[in-house]
Amino acid sequence: MYGLMMDYPLTLAQILEHACRIHADKQVTTLLPNGTLHRYDYATLYERVKRLANVLTELGVQRGDRIATYASNTYQHLELYYAIPCLGAVLHPLNVRLSPTQLTQIVREAEDKLVFVDSAYIAQFQALRDKIDSISTVYFGLKSEDTDTCYEQLLSDARSAYTWDIRDENSAMGLCYTSGTYGEPRGVLYTHRSMFLHTLAANQADVFGLTEADVVLPIVPMFHAMAWGLPYASMFAGADIVLPGAKPTSIADLIADTGVTVAAGVPTVWAAAYPELRKRRANIARLRRVIVGGEAMPPALIEAYETELGVEICHAWGMTEMSPTGTLSKLRAGHQNLPDTEKWRIKAKQGQPIPGVELRLAAETTDGFKELPWDGEAIGELQARSPWTANRYYKIEPTPEHFTNDGWFRTGDMATIDAEGYVQIVDRAKALIRSGGEAISSIALETTLLKHPYIQEAAVVGIPDEKWGERPVAVVVCTEEADENISATLEKQLISEFPKFWIPDKFIFVDEIPKTSVGKSDKRAILMQLTGVQTALEKSRIFSPTEKK
Ligand code: ADP
Repeated sequence: MYGLMMDYPLTLAQILEHACRIHADKQVTTLLPNGTLHRYDYATLYERVKRLANVLTELGVQRGDRIATYASNTYQHLELYYAIPCLGAVLHPLNVRLSPTQLTQIVREAEDKLVFVDSAYIAQFQALRDKIDSISTVYFGLKSEDTDTCYEQLLSDARSAYTWDIRDENSAMGLCYTSGTYGEPRGVLYTHRSMFLHTLAANQADVFGLTEADVVLPIVPMFHAMAWGLPYASMFAGADIVLPGAKPTSIADLIADTGVTVAAGVPTVWAAAYPELRKRRANIARLRRVIVGGEAMPPALIEAYETELGVEICHAWGMTEMSPTGTLSKLRAGHQNLPDTEKWRIKAKQGQPIPGVELRLAAETTDGFKELPWDGEAIGELQARSPWTANRYYKIEPTPEHFTNDGWFRTGDMATIDAEGYVQIVDRAKALIRSGGEAISSIALETTLLKHPYIQEAAVVGIPDEKWGERPVAVVVCTEEADENISATLEKQLISEFPKFWIPDKFIFVDEIPKTSVGKSDKRAILMQLTGVQTALEKSRIFSPTEKK
């Protein structure tokens, strides 16, 4: 028997319409390249989005067409975030930090019809433009610092009336490529329904918990897993939005000047911003929560934010393939009376699956997968399913490497899950170090290294070894206080927590750890530099080992 409820499609047009009708006065603030702030309200955004829909129609955009953006986090990018999917086309934000060769492959595979380019990137876009000229109509550009470019002209010439006509919630709305930390980037094609449901899930009180009173700052780029869904979640909640543009000179200033209450970004962003935020503690008093994900957040940094700055850290785990939110680490009511060290330990875990996400811990057997217990000890592959998890990659036939026969997505992350359902990522399967047949978790070693006050950054990689298969090597960035005994000190610290064979064979001291296009430690680059090009390692600007034994 069917229920008697409306067949009401879950589309992004509903989010836009609700946000702009109920919260028309809410503000979108953008940091412009010249350092000034551009502001307008949702009502203005709404009118511009409708004009943009008419512009896109005039330019020949049809349902299902992929429309790329090559842009930073700005109000125009936000307009494209709504106009493209709401008229039935597919928004494809390009990762501006990928190489022109990678981007050429991606644009060709996506068969993008148009590319919207932010004036902040016009120069670097040239290298790509030459390569994709033959297959794409390229349309420049967004409003530059002092001149109105054609984007603004087209908008002002367009009609402001447009009626959304997107009825099928299963239509594609966005295409995002993984950042390719391990392996080549792969396309993930979201639907209106998946993004709508992810938005509702993200806005629950125990998930991101955004409210109408918030001012939300997504530092996470709009090309990284749809800025973690924040452009949609913030507007559905009716929050003000602050967009940091291409290169904010000071995150602390931006937070202070615009009264940000919730900000989101990868751990490296928060590690770098910490000293400045600490100095400006009095000016950032409204900041109540920082959403962190993409990489493990070191417990020492969680503690520093919570105790020194009074900012709650929401440590989340997710993947482009999961729209991206999968789990979130928050203390439960029953944890409140635990000793502080125990609290930081729990918060440094990746957390419980958010409502709507199902997880299992699996070990591969000869005839499929065996489920492992949630006892906090058994290590297995994390597998997921949810209304916002991909069931295949764009233009790639599903293979058993990524999707199981019984309908689960294989995350490629190795993890434990405890009896309360808290996930702890041990490593990516591809990053797990295997020494003498035993697994060593690079994340666990890095977490302990980062507890030392003289260690700023740490990355542990497995170097091929004739006898053991692989051996761990730690690459670290120290503060100026570190002296020549630092290797021995670090070794001692690790020995107190880990078996002897886990202790890295070598500590290499560098000025900076190479980062991926979304700001994670680039272990592939580190490995290549350590194993392949030893001389390049010595010469490299960011990777110059210093003599500390
Ligand atoms: P890529 O796989 O190319 O890096 P994503 O940005 O989608 O692209 O990365 C997803 C991966 O990032 C996860 O599979 C996991 O390995 C890692 N990750 C995300 N959040 C966390 C976290 N909080 N702690 C540890 N690892 C994380």
